[in-house]
Amino acid sequence: MDLRTASIDRIRNGTFDVFIVGGGINGAVSAAGLAGRGASIALVDRGDFGAFTSQESSNLVWGGFKYLETYEFLLVRKLCMSRNRLIKAYPDNIKQIGFLAALDESSPFPPWLAALGSLAYWAIGSFRTHHPRLLGAAKIKSAEPVIDTSGVRGGVEYYDAYLKDNDSRFVFGFIRSALDVGAAAANYVELIDARRDGTVWRMRLRDVENGGELSCTSRILVNATGPFIDGVNSQLGLRTEHRIVYSKGIHLIVPRITPNERVLAFFDDTQRLFYVIPMGSRSVIGTTDTRVAHPVTQVTAEDREFLLGQINARLDLAKPLTAADVIAERSGVRPLVVSQDGDDRENADWTKLSRKHEIEIDRNDKAISIFGGKLTDCLNVGEEVAAGVERLGVPLEPDTHTWYGEPARATRDEFYRQARLMKLDALRHKRDVEPLSDRLWRRYGRRAFEMLDEIQRDPTMGEDIMDNADYLRVELHLAAGTEMITKLEDFLRRRSKISQVVSEQAIRASAGIHEVAEILFGADADDKVAEYFGDTPRPASN
Ligand SMILES: Cc1cc2nc3c(=O)[nH]c(=O)nc-3n(C[C@H](O)[C@H](O)[C@H](O)COP(=O)(O)OP(=O)(O)OC[C@H]3O[C@@H](n4cnc5c(N)ncnc54)[C@H](O)[C@@H]3O)c2cc1C
Repeated sequence: MDLRTASIDRIRNGTFDVFIVGGGINGAVSAAGLAGRGASIALVDRGDFGAFTSQESSNLVWGGFKYLETYEFLLVRKLCMSRNRLIKAYPDNIKQIGFLAALDESSPFPPWLAALGSLAYWAIGSFRTHHPRLLGAAKIKSAEPVIDTSGVRGGVEYYDAYLKDNDSRFVFGFIRSALDVGAAAANYVELIDARRDGTVWRMRLRDVENGGELSCTSRILVNATGPFIDGVNSQLGLRTEHRIVYSKGIHLIVPRITPNERVLAFFDDTQRLFYVIPMGSRSVIGTTDTRVAHPVTQVTAEDREFLLGQINARLDLAKPLTAADVIAERSGVRPLVVSQDGDDRENADWTKLSRKHEIEIDRNDKAISIFGGKLTDCLNVGEEVAAGVERLGVPLEPDTHTWYGEPARATRDEFYRQARLMKLDALRHKRDVEPLSDRLWRRYGRRAFEMLDEIQRDPTMGEDIMDNADYLRVELHLAAGTEMITKLEDFLRRRSKISQVVSEQAIRASAGIHEVAEILFGADADDKVAEYFGDTPRPASN
């Protein structure tokens, strides 16, 4: 029986301490934090895990330097502490990275003020990152020749962190951690309705894949539906003090702009910071901040032209970037929290609305709602939800902090020792890709030991499966059993970032794509490939 079917079977007619609706970052950390402390947990998402807002972020783990502009010192301090904690807990997945901000005549701050700000930012972050530096235009040009420094007055380089892989894979890490300690979590299962009945919640669920209905009960319900939180709360009859408004942000993924592993930061014409962020062999340009009324968004021609125009005006490229250079796009809404009675429309500059999160606990109905937040804040959200669950009467085991983070240093050293002994890195044939040992350890942690065994048993397991992406046959076999990949898109877009860095045309032409599908889906392979490429209608999610 596959992992998803087994999870659904456990959810069907099950009784749980906590039922979590929504498998983005906030639902995933809640599940991991609670299951890791002994609670019985069910989690469902009507799409794939991390397939909504949590796959559209900038992949940055940061304290929010730019929130200093709105004097949100407490929020910045909190986010810096969260960033520091995440860097420590995920040394291979979350890497410190320099942000080089080039400031021209139209920038809202002169370089000396930006330098003061970055010193303050460094201090607010308890000096845990490399120290910032003030740079003249000539230094900026020699560090990043791609920047057009003709109008640049100077700049600063300060440090934050980023996810080496993608945001949704990071989310899945928490789902996997919850599954490892006994949680039942299923993707493509929708909460249709839930009612408080005496001392329990009664949930009605729908398996989006086959339309079948199922039900379960729990003592507590956690609403982690991100941008959909208000709709779900009102459907369930839950009243809250807060609500959500939406800020749309887009990213464009293009061929690598600078060879350096560094973020380039610029002020756009509206005086808002935007970035060029490394993603493997690509660069991600973004983001934007547009108020929208609906959570489902896409990149419009206007969005695309705006970002391309902004970046072309700030770079010294032999040929300006055009829409034809865009390999993939991302569009999402930030769920921003406002109070129920406060009229945010009166807010003169609504882009200044805070990025904080709020967790509301309903003692009568035994429900918890998670509003807003950031990926960076995820450990705090996990802990605050756990505290809320305890307040609602479900005792938890002491927090040993084992529900997050990479395995211990000694385990890592042992993996690298074994990888060296079997000359794992010599299996790599492609140029310009990172050593296999780094990739396998970062993506799979302890599960990477199994891969070494498999490759030794059968050397074909160490072969690259797709000509234009970095995935070994053994990774696919392991993913098929452990990563609940229900659609080809779950693999190409979220467990891996292949569809973000390889064009759809190239994926379609890839020699290995059918073998990928066969390993993941067996007899259903052809249907799943056809579904992915839109050759058959895809069932709607979200
Ligand atoms: C453009 C952009 C850039 C960002 N950049 C960063 C960044 O660099 N760093 C950072 O820290 N943060 C960043 N963020 C913020 C961060 O991405 C979000 O705060 C976070 O992903 C929100 O996660 P969530 O779990 O609340 O919501 P989501 O990820 O949207 O998850 C909610 C889930 O609920 C599910 N759901 C809804 N209704 C139902 C139902 N009835 N039944 C079952 N499931 C349901 C949905 O399918 C969805 O998967 C960015 C956000 C945006 C939009």
